[in-house]
Amino acid sequence: MQGDADVKLDSLYREVILDHYRSPRNRGTLEHPDAQAEGYNPLCGDQITLHLDLDGERIAAARFTAAGCSISQAAASMMAGLIEGKTLAEVQSLFDDFKAVMHGHPADEEKMGDLVALEGVRHFPVRIKCALLPFETLKQALDSRTP
Ligand code: ZN
Repeated sequence: MQGDADVKLDSLYREVILDHYRSPRNRGTLEHPDAQAEGYNPLCGDQITLHLDLDGERIAAARFTAAGCSISQAAASMMAGLIEGKTLAEVQSLFDDFKAVMHGHPADEEKMGDLVALEGVRHFPVRIKCALLPFETLKQALDSRTP
């Protein structure tokens, strides 16, 4: 599914997206994660496995492994770096904001960090699921954790 689609998307591949794709932050696994989930985007074939260590209501560590297009992998790298140290409420708010950006709202750069670089993805509706996959997987991991 890559190849053609990725060539057409050249205009939105800003340098920061490529940088995260080529040198992903927080890539890897955690030995005894407090929460984990696997996400899959069948439209594009993107896969992500997310591991989280929690410290009460705060995300102490986030690691991911991913396969798929550069948008999904860059988004995973951006998200994992951003959520470390944040509370679950802050993370939910970040997810809500990012979804809003994908649906046309302006991005708050201070809050969203490098995720702002993905703003242009909203012009390519089929790729929005790629950008949202890491957050969907994060939500799945948090929802499925055993108390
Ligand atoms: Zn994708």
